[in-house]
Amino acid sequence: MSGNGTIWHPTRRETLIGGVGAAALAASGKLVAQSAQGQPLIGDPALPDVPVKRLGWAIVGLGTFAIGQVIPGFSNARYSRISAFVSGNRDKARMLGARHGVDQLYSYDSFDTISEDPTIDCVYIVLPVGLHAEYSIRALKAGKHVLCEKPMASSSQEAEAMIAAAESARRKLGVAYRVHFEPNNMHVLDRVHSGGLGQMRFVSADHGFSANPDYPPHKWRLEKTLGGGGSMWDIGIYGINTSLMMLPGDRVTAVSAAYATPEGDPRFTEVEGAIDYRLRMASGINVQGSSSYCYSPYVSRQRYFGSDASIEMQPATTYYDNEIRYEGGGQPPRIYRAGIPEIQFAAQVDGFSRAVRGEVAVRTPGEMGLRDLRIMEACYASADRGGTVVETDIPV
Ligand code: NDP
Repeated sequence: MSGNGTIWHPTRRETLIGGVGAAALAASGKLVAQSAQGQPLIGDPALPDVPVKRLGWAIVGLGTFAIGQVIPGFSNARYSRISAFVSGNRDKARMLGARHGVDQLYSYDSFDTISEDPTIDCVYIVLPVGLHAEYSIRALKAGKHVLCEKPMASSSQEAEAMIAAAESARRKLGVAYRVHFEPNNMHVLDRVHSGGLGQMRFVSADHGFSANPDYPPHKWRLEKTLGGGGSMWDIGIYGINTSLMMLPGDRVTAVSAAYATPEGDPRFTEVEGAIDYRLRMASGINVQGSSSYCYSPYVSRQRYFGSDASIEMQPATTYYDNEIRYEGGGQPPRIYRAGIPEIQFAAQVDGFSRAVRGEVAVRTPGEMGLRDLRIMEACYASADRGGTVVETDIPV
């Protein structure tokens, strides 16, 4: 019961709404709420029209992303609230509990006793990748629904075990692909689906940053056991997942890739520094991209080339700054934003809460995380063999 067993593709209306957090905004005819002075608002000023029982969430792993984005994101949620923190650092958990009004605190040792806690409906795994499968499965066994950070796991075998655990526990399992709730990407998705580019011809995706082995959140990413895999596991996955979001119903029929690690760079003894890849789709489209721990500054770029128009997003998948450059119809290029990226965090948890309530399907289910792992594994298999083409048959 990971999602509904298949990957769900949003309808045009659903892509416009972009998740529950934006529903009131979309209902008011605008994607972005505005202040009286016309400034875009991050919070939604409309009060819920019906009282909603918010589902309780436990946040597992209080690191950079959890503290910096996930936890603050709940302040814009309507269907979700934080009811527990799970951490190996009791003082940090207490401090954050006091700041956010969360009094249920668990350690990794006491984690399994969440089964006795009726205030927890959903568990959000924000741990290093090598721990995703273990803690997701433990949470599912404790009877909780699980949203796991990307990438879903270290391997497709682990992802399959997570999906099986969700099915046997009859609980929902989702992967936190927040881009599926980010309003600018939702707008591009809508343009692509409604034929705004004509026929899609080519997609390119480049994502990377410069890894610093002295920075703790980067250090584990450079270790195979905790990082799960190489740069694609962490950053290139945005390119794979976002590109495929634009190509529903297609299939990945062949994959090739080549490593591009700088010679002698001491950071890359366990994982590669960079990898370039190409996915051949059944439709004839190629998706080409790069994933790197050696780019500086941070790169997050998606490009969609159609028969009639093209779109570039740069940055494409960030927390705050995503921007759309549309070119076509003989007009000068238009650069614009279609919504405030920040709402993606609330929209994502609310979307999952609503799926648990049975109101919608899980938009980014475990099956999507498994699909992406299979594609990434095929890329690394190709790179290991010097770039040989690996035949695949992976439905989008
Ligand atoms: P951090 O290293 O900053 O945080 C990870 C936290 O996990 C730690 O602070 C710690 O929390 C806990 N932890 C438990 N065991 C270990 C261990 N052995 N080594 C290190 N940490 C451990 O990483 P990030 O916050 O950057 O990443 C966490 C997850 O979020 C990853 O899965 C990553 O892929 C994902 N992520 C997603 C992003 C997105 O945009 N969707 C962006 C950034 C990250 P504690 O002290 O509380 O136990």
